Amino acid sequence: VRAAVLRNGEMVVRDDVPEPIPEAGQVLVEVVACGICGSDLHLAQHGAEMMALARELRGEHGGNEVDLDRDVYMGHEFSAKVLKAGPQTTTFTPGTAVTSMPVVFGSEGAENIAFSNTTLGGYGERMLLSAAMLLEVPNGLDPKIAALTEPMAVGVHAVNKSNIEPGEGAIVLGCGPVGLACIAALRTRGIETIVATDFSDSRRALATTMGATEAVDPNTSTAWEAWRRHARGPAVIFEAVGARGMINDVLKSAPRHSRVVVVGVCAGQDELVPYFGIAKEINLQFCLAYDRTEFEHTLGLIANGELESTPMVTSTVGLAGVGRAFEALGAPDEQCKILVAPNA
Ligand SMILES: [Zn+2]
Repeated sequence: VRAAVLRNGEMVVRDDVPEPIPEAGQVLVEVVACGICGSDLHLAQHGAEMMALARELRGEHGGNEVDLDRDVYMGHEFSAKVLKAGPQTTTFTPGTAVTSMPVVFGSEGAENIAFSNTTLGGYGERMLLSAAMLLEVPNGLDPKIAALTEPMAVGVHAVNKSNIEPGEGAIVLGCGPVGLACIAALRTRGIETIVATDFSDSRRALATTMGATEAVDPNTSTAWEAWRRHARGPAVIFEAVGARGMINDVLKSAPRHSRVVVVGVCAGQDELVPYFGIAKEINLQFCLAYDRTEFEHTLGLIANGELESTPMVTSTVGLAGVGRAFEALGAPDEQCKILVAPNA
């Protein structure tokens, strides 16, 4: 099996990965497409720090760790076609287009399909999924687009966590894939005022295409000034930048009684002044990923055209193009979401 793997901080193509063999309950699938996620770029660049944080969080609970000195399989935003089921396993007929949350159950329990030395992800020709987790791509939806279910579900979940109601307005800070997913999900909830910010011209253009009322360049106007042009009073704010200092800036500048949903990932130490939040009674909510219901709901929303998702796809590459795609995503003005099509 061919797969792009992380080796010494670089994405390289291997053509000697052992063919995955489905156990009972598992299904062998052929990958149609897999989106490149910011967390993959982060592991490639700051793998050791990420592992140290994960270790700190796990504490004495143990759990399996990724060895960065060995090849690492990645790719958790995938769609696929069913090839064959493992023993005593029923699944969709071969050729059926499917997607799944990035988790697979095996004899050693559940494993996340994110970063692994042993479990193949979506940056390979074939991989194993759990029959029980498979969702059929609804008729009519391009199987390639079904790979956007995972990143879009992150926005659907963040919006659910915010408890935003029609009549309220939102501010989305950062228009990378996470911020854009929040904007699209807000539109499905009937939110009319959505102020977005990003330094990149192309990402601001994507933000308005995907439903933002106004997208501002922080060099020209702050989100808060833009907010006051559209609305009064508290906002529901989605922090999708994940840079150091962002949360404190939000607490300092947000309207009184705003709710803040932290969906951008700042994987390091950060500082904030609690008093800013206290003085304005800001509600601060952190969130991660989605649940199974939200994932399934997101696939349906994409399939029936209610959730705008395709504009964020800026290119599609083969396995040999993954290394260059990782580099291109480091300069986000050019690219937003790059899909890998390992069998194209
Ligand atoms: Zn992701």
